[in-house]
Amino acid sequence: MSNEREILISGGGIGGLSAALALARAGRRVRVLEKAAEFGEIGYGIQMGPNIQPMLERLGIAHAIEPHAVYPDALVLADAITGKELTRITLGAAFLARYRHRYFVIHRRDLHGAMLDACRARGDIALEPSKGLERFDDRGDRVIVRCEDGSAYEGAALIGADGLWSPTRAAVVGDGAPRTAGHFAYRGMVPIDSIIDRSYENSMIIYAGPSLHLVQYRLRGGTVMNNVATIASHRHARGEADCGGPDELTEIFARCDPRVRQMLDYVGKDRHWALHDRPPAANWTKGNVTLLGDAAHPMLQYLAQGACMAIEDAVVLGAKVGLAGADYPRAFLAYQEERFYRTARVQITARAFGDILHADGGARELRNHLCAQRDPDWPAEIDWLYRGIAAARPPTPPAPMPPP
Ligand SMILES: Cc1cc2nc3c(=O)[nH]c(=O)nc-3n(C[C@H](O)[C@H](O)[C@H](O)COP(=O)(O)OP(=O)(O)OC[C@H]3O[C@@H](n4cnc5c(N)ncnc54)[C@H](O)[C@@H]3O)c2cc1C
Repeated sequence: MSNEREILISGGGIGGLSAALALARAGRRVRVLEKAAEFGEIGYGIQMGPNIQPMLERLGIAHAIEPHAVYPDALVLADAITGKELTRITLGAAFLARYRHRYFVIHRRDLHGAMLDACRARGDIALEPSKGLERFDDRGDRVIVRCEDGSAYEGAALIGADGLWSPTRAAVVGDGAPRTAGHFAYRGMVPIDSIIDRSYENSMIIYAGPSLHLVQYRLRGGTVMNNVATIASHRHARGEADCGGPDELTEIFARCDPRVRQMLDYVGKDRHWALHDRPPAANWTKGNVTLLGDAAHPMLQYLAQGACMAIEDAVVLGAKVGLAGADYPRAFLAYQEERFYRTARVQITARAFGDILHADGGARELRNHLCAQRDPDWPAEIDWLYRGIAAARPPTPPAPMPPP
């Protein structure tokens, strides 16, 4: 273990803990400062593309996560108005042959909990709850972080993994509040026995309709069904302040097939999430400070890749820091350079995918027509994403030396 100053991480979500593991595995001491009174995650599911399993291997936690993962047989897209299947991506042998890794879904607490256990098991990672970063001062040879409770920490560098409303981003990028999409998500997890239509219980299914979609997949050994219903609020589009509430959810789903409407019973109406993203920012690094995950590139969840990008970020960051020694500004710029185009593409594509899901009229007709022509064994639209990053590919064997 090095005698250098530790690296400070603001935020102990999936991104912050992944970064802690990656940096510790690169030989650095790390301190994670988390604003909440406890390290934790919300009680719903999350999808992980095949680009993530090799990242979890690199973080040394794939084996701990495996028992909690559920492996659907297909990603299905259905029309919410007719209830009919439009297309699917089969997740069987052809998918595995193409990507070498599986697609899985998992309860967020199981994923985050495995990361937390792995961090706690290491002597080189300190975890500090109730430590909300208030501001920081990069003095060139070290960074001083001041927390909301008045405490201060000194580190060699700072990683802002403090999410959508990141105070670290405010100081590094300074681009104001994230963009309000006018979209609202309702979540719910119910026992599998309470699900009436179980035709697609082995799949991850998206019912797409005008200004709406609903996602379903099973978790925890198949015992529970995770449900997310999302609407693009018409009231928000009209500039009304009272928008996205449960009455508008019911209103927007009114045109759906009765089976899809009935699925709204599986989501809680007492809480909902207003969705945000940002246009890509080409620079999220300043001196000894950089950003990671939603702090760096917040995106709408329509490709189910926000946390996946945070985990990929962490692996690349660990690799660059490992190569650059104590030169953090150089390591952080190299990390950003490797991550920018990919994360920017996901941010922009996720927005466009939302428009496709929420299409109405002629656009919906076109979507359904094109879906009918898709090859379920060739996910052309997201192949670039699922192929993952260079770190996931096996090293190329060195070319043979030419004879002397
Ligand atoms: C409805 C929905 C569904 C989604 N589904 C998927 C999916 O299927 N797959 C996927 O990959 N992604 C999905 N996402 C996106 C994913 O949830 C996020 O991209 C991911 O959680 C980002 O992780 P993060 O660690 O960067 O940020 P966060 O999870 O937001 O963590 C930030 C942490 O920083 C802490 N913090 C905040 N302020 C401070 C401060 N001042 N000081 C210290 N700590 C602070 C917070 O308490 C938190 O613990 C979904 C998102 C939504 C809304």
